[in-house]
Parts: sequence; C-alpha cells; structure tokens
Amino acid sequence: MSEKTIFKRIIDGEIPAKIIYDDELCLAFHDVNPQAPVHVLVIPKREIRSIATATDDDVALLGHLLKVVRVVAGQLGLEQGYRVVTNIGADGGQSVDHLHLHVLGGRPLQWPPG
Ligand code: 5GP
Repeated sequence: MSEKTIFKRIIDGEIPAKIIYDDELCLAFHDVNPQAPVHVLVIPKREIRSIATATDDDVALLGHLLKVVRVVAGQLGLEQGYRVVTNIGADGGQSVDHLHLHVLGGRPLQWPPG
C-alpha cells in the first residue's frame, strides 16, 4: 500500500492542523506556509489525488467543496474578494497528492500567477 499523504494524516488526526471547518465530507484548515494573509486549504476526506483523477462519482463532492469555500470565506471575512486555486500534477505545482483547494485572500492578488 502506498504511504499516507500529509493531508490524509491530518484527516486521521495523526498530525495537528488549525482546522476551521469540519463535516462528514471535507475539512478546511490554515496552510502551514501561507502565501497571503488568509491562506486556507479545503480538502475532501475521500482520497482523490487531484481534479485530474476525480470521477463522475465525485461531482457532488466537488460542488460541496466549492460551497465550503464560500462558507469559510465568509467566516474569514473575505468580503473584498479572494482566489480559489487547485494545482494539478508536476507542471501545476502540486506538492501534496491529495486534492485541495487553496483559498487565498486578505490582500490584492496578482495575475497571472507564476
Ligand atoms: P500544493 O503545492 O500541492 O498545491 O499545495 C500544498 C500546500 O500544502 C502548500 O501550500 C503547503 O504549504 C501546504 N502544506 C504542506 N504540508 C502541510 C502541513 O503539514 N500542514 C498544513 N496545514 N499545510 C501543509
């Protein structure tokens, strides 16, 4: 069996995280290396590597993740706007092989990203 990802270990309570949202389908917590004043990750509890390997069975779950993005953005006071990013694979800059949505805000963000 392949080794657990760091996010699976957070889901399983094996390592700590600053969790701000938790339900039966997903978890949201502060990124350990924030790239903006607010940098939160929203992850499914189901082990999905990335959007690229999600299946039709995951459609409702993916919609739920976006709903939770809206909820946590409200909790965190991001009324001025924010960005949602999901990195996919090597060229996308993905470093943890467990699907996650970055929620970045609290300052004006540049475009395009690097
Ligand atoms: P990726 O590069 O895969 O799109 O994003 C992975 C993110 O996970 C990075 O922003 C990184 O800072 C964050 N991260 C990696 N390890 C941990 C950890 O143990 N705890 C938390 N809270 N975030 C982590």
